[in-house]
Amino acid sequence: MSHCCKNESKMSLNTVFGSNVFNDAVMRERLPKATYKALKKTIDEGLELDPAVAEVVASVMKDWALEKGATHFTHWFQPMTGITAEKHDAFISPTSDGKVILEFSGKELIKGEPDASSFPSGGLRATFEARGYTAWDCTSPAFIKDDTLCIPTAFCSYTGEALDKKTPLLRSMEALSKQAMRVLKLFGNTTATRVVTTVGPEQEYFLIDKEMYDARKDLIFTGRTLFGAKPPKGQELEDHYFGTIKERVSAFMKELDQELWKLGVSAKTKHNEVAPAQHELAPIFSTTNIATDHNQLAMEVMQKVALRHGLVCLLHEKPFAGVNGSGKHNNWSMSTNDGQNLLDPGYTPHENAQFLVFLCAVVKAVDEYADFLRVSAATPGNDHRLGANEAPPAIISIFLGDQLTDILEQIENGGANASKQGGELKIGVSTLPALPKDSTDRNRTSPFAFTGNKFEFRMVGSSASIAGANFVTNTIVAEILSQIADRLETVKAEDFDSEVQKLLQEIVKNHKRIIFNGNGYSNDWVVEAEKRGLPNLRSTVEAIPAIIAEKNKAVMEKHSVLSRVEMESRYEINLENYIKTINIEALTMLEMAKRQILPAVIKFTTEVASSINSIQATGLNVDISAQSELLSEISTLAASFKKNIAKLEEILDKASDMHGDTFKQACAFKDEVFAQMGALRADADKLETLVDAEYWPIPTYGDMLFNV
Ligand code: ADP
Ligand code: MG
Repeated sequence: MSHCCKNESKMSLNTVFGSNVFNDAVMRERLPKATYKALKKTIDEGLELDPAVAEVVASVMKDWALEKGATHFTHWFQPMTGITAEKHDAFISPTSDGKVILEFSGKELIKGEPDASSFPSGGLRATFEARGYTAWDCTSPAFIKDDTLCIPTAFCSYTGEALDKKTPLLRSMEALSKQAMRVLKLFGNTTATRVVTTVGPEQEYFLIDKEMYDARKDLIFTGRTLFGAKPPKGQELEDHYFGTIKERVSAFMKELDQELWKLGVSAKTKHNEVAPAQHELAPIFSTTNIATDHNQLAMEVMQKVALRHGLVCLLHEKPFAGVNGSGKHNNWSMSTNDGQNLLDPGYTPHENAQFLVFLCAVVKAVDEYADFLRVSAATPGNDHRLGANEAPPAIISIFLGDQLTDILEQIENGGANASKQGGELKIGVSTLPALPKDSTDRNRTSPFAFTGNKFEFRMVGSSASIAGANFVTNTIVAEILSQIADRLETVKAEDFDSEVQKLLQEIVKNHKRIIFNGNGYSNDWVVEAEKRGLPNLRSTVEAIPAIIAEKNKAVMEKHSVLSRVEMESRYEINLENYIKTINIEALTMLEMAKRQILPAVIKFTTEVASSINSIQATGLNVDISAQSELLSEISTLAASFKKNIAKLEEILDKASDMHGDTFKQACAFKDEVFAQMGALRADADKLETLVDAEYWPIPTYGDMLFNV
């Protein structure tokens, strides 16, 4: 019985997985052989697509989509807003006899022309044309969502400036492939033709009841709670309640899996997060751009499926103060197109030397570009998380584990010894001790941890696109690999091993300050990191100037990932986004404070006051100190609350009126507006603990976190 059911679910999974994706299997089956071959060549080798090939692909794709019930197509893209955008067009074309034909041309597949003027461009619009265009990214398969054929695309201005997150990501993958191939050739690799970066992003999220959500303007407008006292029970027991929660959440998860599988997203859901109502979804890794597309899809589908269950999926980095926030663990590695993971330590000395070169390239890249990596994960929402208890600190460091650190130390001291077995070991001459996969421990406090065969960048926020973190990682690693290749390419074959040894020694010597295996949450680390000269960019506003730091602009320009102009526009976009986010939060707070919280407090004080009056009217000698003390305490707090409302209004007006210098304005929003929001919240949260629950106008933390 159970055996047969197992088979059944296996069968349905097989037919469900990728059923809405125009993937390799579909292409192989449906495209004419020559077309398939030509398209594969384009996909695998990054060659230019022949328009004639596109014409055939478009027609086959259209027929497939129509069979699946699609009526529209869209160029699906990822503008700088961090979410995806789409403009739907029907397949229908009118004919002269008043009928319609269903059309989809190669031109429509390859190129779209959405109006670029309503997407953030950070000043690019002023200098360039408003028109933008989307270009088919054939390395990420098309799929059907809501009866619409979605074609993954890159989004550029008409003059070619990237207006999205995908263009630099694709360019960075090219850059890394080119430089990594140079290094691989030096190590005698003759089989690989490309190197891809692979990513598996683990996604955290909260689920709360839709009714509670609808009653909270802060969640609706900002994605996080701007008020809310600590509930009596938080996450201290680390018990993550199931009980009644279980049925609804597991029904949600099952449906989520199904929906994601249809889209070819290889999700395996888990529900083991520490905070109440918090969950995690982990996919199986894929190439960086597909992983990025899939993560965007996963976020979208999670929100949609939650609604079907009367739930709302919160993707904000810190929906609830005092409770763990949500992040994304960006698991990243490099792999050859014939399947060799370059961050997998090998068994032979030769493999080990190559592994150490790639590993040390990452170490050097992360040290030299720590500020750049930091800003790639900087968002206003993530400011609540980085440096808080559950998330890595804002200081970038690398965790390597004791064994690898020991090997690097030996290299620094002039050649590694095979552990305690003795015997001089020259890289590429003798063998390194085999590194068991889980020799790396479960250090959870490091922002950039080596986990056996990949690095895990844990700083990225839960609502952010992973594109930014990955195009920065790809590009900085490409740069160090290019430096390594430049140097090793000039060396005679007989000197190769010793030059590799020297090179590794130098990297360890110069960059070991970035390696830290201890507790990243401790205060000692902050002090120690400062001594080591590591940047501590605590907030988004402090991190953003790294985008226009000369060395960072130079590395992006050198590898043709982003031009200087594109970097400068992104600097502006990030600052503007910060200002807008805090502005919306402050306005939402004011609205809730003035129109919900203060009126409720006044109503309750009226009730207390009338109770005092009624008791006094009886003429009895009754102790009314409880009532009068409560009235006095609440009234005092209410007065302070009212003053803080006025002060926030004044500060916000002033900050909003600042013009000219966007950076200065962002600083004002952080140092003044945001700080005053904290003062206002403190009063309200105290009031919440004093006012009759019946009067409190919004669901409490306890309601939201424990009532699903
Ligand atoms: P955990 O971190 O929870 O212990 P795993 O280590 O099994 O879980 O994997 C975490 C994520 O890392 C998964 O999404 C997995 O697909 C991804 N991953 C595994 N190997 C690689 C790799 N070579 N490149 C990129 N991501 C990888
Ligand atoms: Mg992990």
